[in-house]
Amino acid sequence: MPLAVTHVLLTIILLDLFRDYIIKKKRLIPLHFIFIGGIAGLIPDIDIPIFWLLNLFKLNITWFHGTFTHLFLIPIAILAASLITYRYNKKAGILLGIISFGYGFHIFLDFLFYGCNISPFWPIITHNFNGLSHYLNIPGLEQGLDAFILLAWLWHEEVRHKISDFI
Ligand SMILES: [Zn+2]
Repeated sequence: MPLAVTHVLLTIILLDLFRDYIIKKKRLIPLHFIFIGGIAGLIPDIDIPIFWLLNLFKLNITWFHGTFTHLFLIPIAILAASLITYRYNKKAGILLGIISFGYGFHIFLDFLFYGCNISPFWPIITHNFNGLSHYLNIPGLEQGLDAFILLAWLWHEEVRHKISDFI
């Protein structure tokens, strides 16, 4: 998996860019929705602390990270819930849509970088795939990516929102 910072930051950045440049209505997507979207970008890796917890109780379970929580079925179900909810409560529908994006984007990033042992497209496509890391051999790629994304975002925020005024 790309590191946690990449998952959270990249999700927040894409949502922020979408809000700033595409919909251009900040009231439709308040800042705390973007924050929640960033957290949703980390939820699929909940299988890691679950594994630790199960092992704490000496259940001798084999490493299952990147399997059942990394299926596109989950964000698709959240998106469906978002579309239904939107009819009755616009704000809640938008929030669910953002959570669906964050969750799905995490799976996309993991798949792009590392491929998979269990297909994220299950049950439609079930065979394994290799990710970019199988073809590229760049030591420290994940850490470099984290640093690059953070710096690019800070630069954007400085140019667009003058964040240094708040420091
Ligand atoms: Zn993951």
